[in-house]
This record gives sequence, structure tokens and C-alpha cells, in this order.
Amino acid sequence: MEEKKEWPLKLVWSSPVLPKVGVFTWLALKKRILTGERLSRLGFLGPFRCVMCKKADESLDHLLLQCEEAQMVWNFLLGKLGWQTPLPNSVFELLSSWNIQSHISVFSSVWLVAPSLVVWEIWKERNRRIFQEKEESSASLLSRVEREISESVSAAARNHSLTKYPYSSEDNFIQANWPLVNCQPVNGSWRVSPLSEPTKDEVKWEPPTKE
Ligand SMILES: [Zn+2]
Repeated sequence: MEEKKEWPLKLVWSSPVLPKVGVFTWLALKKRILTGERLSRLGFLGPFRCVMCKKADESLDHLLLQCEEAQMVWNFLLGKLGWQTPLPNSVFELLSSWNIQSHISVFSSVWLVAPSLVVWEIWKERNRRIFQEKEESSASLLSRVEREISESVSAAARNHSLTKYPYSSEDNFIQANWPLVNCQPVNGSWRVSPLSEPTKDEVKWEPPTKE
């Protein structure tokens, strides 16, 4: 049976994220990502525990949405978008009900780039834990997500004219919540300032060493 809900094509293919991020999101929506659940269906022997929370088996919807780490990231994002909505249980449901009407302005394109970048960053962190045996703190995962989204939006702003994308009240709201989106309307176009390198604190927080 075909899914009744509409495929969120716009989020995947019209979003100013890197093509590989769009492709990954597309595969995630089609449940084609090689998660533990899929590997065991293909005959590989587990166990395939979720490396993010270490509490449940790894399925696509668990890893990218139901896991407590994923919930933290999505709730962080919803908070910064000012969108109060309960998170559904499947990635497909979340993305197909995503609010994508309101991105005609530059800052509002945060709405368009954010979902793909969230699933991509969670996936990268999962792989880092499995293949490099490195683990980022929750705080650095959040700041990485914020930074990636902000950079994508700023990069997209370079191609926008102010005439086509006039500054709106929605921009105002997003601008206040996303200080890393580094562009300003100047003389009829968007001026994008390069983002400074992440500070040491932003990249990694380490507890003070004991004497
Ligand atoms: Zn988990």
C-alpha cells in the first residue's frame, strides 16, 4: 500500500543543503539506511544496540527520532523555531507534517534546511561512535546542529535578492533565535559575513582537571 501522506519532496530536494544530505534524508524516509534493524533483517547477526542511548535496539525511527538523544535535538530545534508540536513516532510522519510554507524569506529557510541536517548530524554522530569510538557530548551535538543549519542558511542567502525575499517579521523572529545565521540586509541584497571558527568551548566542553 502506498503511504497516504505526502512525501516531503521539498524538504529533500529544494532545500539548500548539500546533495549528500538530501540523499541521506531521502533514504531515511524510504527506510533504506543501514541501521541495526535493517542489518539483522538482511541476515547479519546483532545485537545492534543504539549507540546513542545504549538502551534500545537500533531502528531508523528509534535512532533518528525516538531515542532520547534524538528527542533532545528535535526539541532544541523546535524551541529555536518557536514551534510547539508533539513529536510523532516516525521520521516520515514528522517530515511530512513539517511546516514548510513559511520559508519565503531568508531567515525562514531555517525551516527548510533544518530537518535534513538534524537527521544527518545524528547519523554522523552515530557513525563516529561506532567506527571511530569517539563520543561527542550532547551539548556539542546541539551546537554542531545549530552551526550546520546556520551555515546552510547563510550560504543560501548569498543567492537571494532583497527584492525577491524582503525582510519580514518572520525573519526578525528567526534572526533573534539563530544568532549564527550571519547575514544582514544591506543596500538591496543580503550581506553574509563568514562565521568565525567555533570557539574551544563550543566544540568541546571538558571538565576541569583535578590537581
Ligand atoms: Zn537510542
